[in-house]
Amino acid sequence: MRVLTPPGLGDLDLECDVVVVGSGTGGAVVAAQCAEAGQDVVVLEEGKHHSPEEYGKNRPSETLRKIYRDGGTGFAWGIGNSPLINVTMGKAIGGSSLLTGGVCFRVPPKVLDEWRVDRRLTEMTEAHLEPYFEEVERDCHVAEVPVHMRSRATELFGIGAEKLGYSIRSNHRNTDGCNGCGRCNFGCPHGAKMSVDLTYLPRAVKAGARIYSSCLVDRIRHHDGRATGVSGTIRGGEGQLRVRARRVVLSAGSYHSPLVLKRSGVGARSRQVGRNMTLHPGFRMMALFDEDVRGWRGALQSAHSEAFDEERITLMSVFTPPGVLAAAMPGVGPELARNASTIPNIAMFGGLVHDEGGGRVRRGFGREPFVTYTMSGADRAAARRVIRLMAETYFAAGARKVYLPILSGSAVDADGLKAIDLDRIPMRRLECSSQHPLGTCRMGSEARDSVVDPNGEAWDLRDLWVADGSILPTSLGVNPQVPIMSMALRTARRMLDRPLQDRGTR
Ligand SMILES: Cc1cc2nc3c(=O)[nH]c(=O)nc-3n(C[C@H](O)[C@H](O)[C@H](O)COP(=O)(O)OP(=O)(O)OC[C@H]3O[C@@H](n4cnc5c(N)ncnc54)[C@H](O)[C@@H]3O)c2cc1C
Ligand code: SF4
Repeated sequence: MRVLTPPGLGDLDLECDVVVVGSGTGGAVVAAQCAEAGQDVVVLEEGKHHSPEEYGKNRPSETLRKIYRDGGTGFAWGIGNSPLINVTMGKAIGGSSLLTGGVCFRVPPKVLDEWRVDRRLTEMTEAHLEPYFEEVERDCHVAEVPVHMRSRATELFGIGAEKLGYSIRSNHRNTDGCNGCGRCNFGCPHGAKMSVDLTYLPRAVKAGARIYSSCLVDRIRHHDGRATGVSGTIRGGEGQLRVRARRVVLSAGSYHSPLVLKRSGVGARSRQVGRNMTLHPGFRMMALFDEDVRGWRGALQSAHSEAFDEERITLMSVFTPPGVLAAAMPGVGPELARNASTIPNIAMFGGLVHDEGGGRVRRGFGREPFVTYTMSGADRAAARRVIRLMAETYFAAGARKVYLPILSGSAVDADGLKAIDLDRIPMRRLECSSQHPLGTCRMGSEARDSVVDPNGEAWDLRDLWVADGSILPTSLGVNPQVPIMSMALRTARRMLDRPLQDRGTR
């Protein structure tokens, strides 16, 4: 795929029909649709282009520096009794899509009910979204993970679950030719994960789209109530960037789409820009077994359990490459070395909370936003429950000890777990992470409490559309890439139904 690099020195001045800001999961889908419909498309991406041959060879520490935003060190600051949450995302051609575990879910029916009833998005039925889900799943090669590709860590969790009276089910993933090497979160070395740099972006380029790396969009230009293009800077050379367009699509993700809107003075009316962020706060449980587990062998995220859906909990298989895992083990010096030497015997599973929200993205001092998160009482209870549940499950499977995700804690055995009162542990001591920031430019049926209308167009500015995770009206309780792509596809089709403005009117 040909990606254009802007000039090292000097400015970039372009004209097109549609400019897409951000080349990630949502933006790539819209770019392909518009280009294939014959529109002249420009995609602007802040990050650089890394081909699978290149990112497949990176050590995890290199991927963190080159593809993760801020080296993976982004945080949402917990307010009150809330955890500090490490929020990760991608900054590259292909965005966060490069980093996924490949897990694919549709929007759960219960969540669609909430969208219809609470958010009054009357079209959001399973039947209405079905064709979009189907098309995305076809385009990205989504298929069920065969049971034989489960890692031993996942098998052990399944054994524990059966003993406790619940079960795990195979995930669907967007892969083609996956050999179960287990390093998806650092870029698939085999080109087997169907991230958007291998699916939608090459389609867009083939249909004539121009994709530029290293282009940072600061603001949306507008005139007379209509978007007319974008402006920004070229990273590295720091030349000026200016694109005149008949339509603007903002796909910079849940952290940055609201920042671009705020800088452009768009969306202030509803006071919702940057608010309502959900994160799916997630926890990881490590368990020490006497047997050889080698949990890194197998499809990275092969199974999940929805048995605790009523409690707003989803359990999901995960694993971390051994080198990174060593840094997460407790102890210093010889104790750390001893703990790290047990990594072949460590199993791991994760759990996330289908949260109520409480996150907010504000402009920070530098490039990145200042992000806060206030966890609700119900979500705090779910967080404690998910930790205990995962530990009990691994003990039921025969684990000797578990490493609870509690900072400064050490491994505990089954009796040690019983003795711990999780309710007394402050949330800030929990080791919590998120890969799913959503909802900061949410879709709604009324301008007073949302940022985009039910089609995805900004209430406050015609010809400005938003297509990324920021428009999702609530959290999902499951991994969001297919919902984001499907909603982006729907938005693209709505855009294409509407003729482009004459050039003269801009
Ligand atoms: C480690 C990890 C694992 C994950 N695993 C899964 C999984 O297994 N299954 C799943 O469903 N989801 C998973 N996710 C979540 C999923 O990847 C994201 O929810 C999704 O990719 C978000 O899509 P998006 O379009 O909102 O943003 P992104 O894909 O992040 O794209 C936004 C792009 O915009 C660019 N950008 C930002 N600001 C600007 C600007 N001002 N100018 C120009 N460009 C800009 C960014 O650099 C980025 O490339 C995972 C995420 C991570 C980080
Ligand atoms: S487990 Fe499969 S999809 Fe993940 S990195 Fe390895 S080959 Fe790629």
